[in-house]
Amino acid sequence: MNCILACLIAVSLQSNVYLPFDPGSRRDVSKIRLTEIGEFGLKRKARPTVPAHYHTGIDIRRPGGNYDAEPVFAMAAGKVISKRTDGPYANLIIEHLIDRVKVWTLYEHIAGILVNAGEIVTPSTPIARFMNRDELNRYGWQFDHFHFEVLRVQPLKLQPTAKNPERFFNAYSLVCYNLDDLYRYYYSPVKFLESH
Ligand SMILES: [Zn+2]
Repeated sequence: MNCILACLIAVSLQSNVYLPFDPGSRRDVSKIRLTEIGEFGLKRKARPTVPAHYHTGIDIRRPGGNYDAEPVFAMAAGKVISKRTDGPYANLIIEHLIDRVKVWTLYEHIAGILVNAGEIVTPSTPIARFMNRDELNRYGWQFDHFHFEVLRVQPLKLQPTAKNPERFFNAYSLVCYNLDDLYRYYYSPVKFLESH
């Protein structure tokens, strides 16, 4: 086998998936720290406006003490398909093609969004940041994490509004009422990261 072919095979075997934040190594899944109720698939109790549902992502703790601008990254190369910018539920949805399979990721409770819908991103470009101290004081410290989802199916199309002109899609975050729904729509983010 000549060198060029060997190099091409080596490159193609490398995974292009990274942790969506930087705990020192973006390939080390064991560095992910979740909040107390941050696990995927945890049953969440009903709240006044939200019926009981399964947690469709993971709640990732801030990796250090940076309460100004701790960056959030895309998990892999892809295209931003939706952006919501209002308050503590600000989010981004990115569409990816990974091993010839379409996958979508959602990043929520983020702030300082740096990308727009339609933009192509790479995993090395910061797309937003964790909320800073001021934002947490305003919205509540229960948002001191970022919520990360990996979707198996295309998110639901939305009609954008004047307030959120680039919010074109919604995930299935609050509508997974049983485990069949959960696994129909979602991957376990930790398992997905481990297997890529
Ligand atoms: Zn969450």
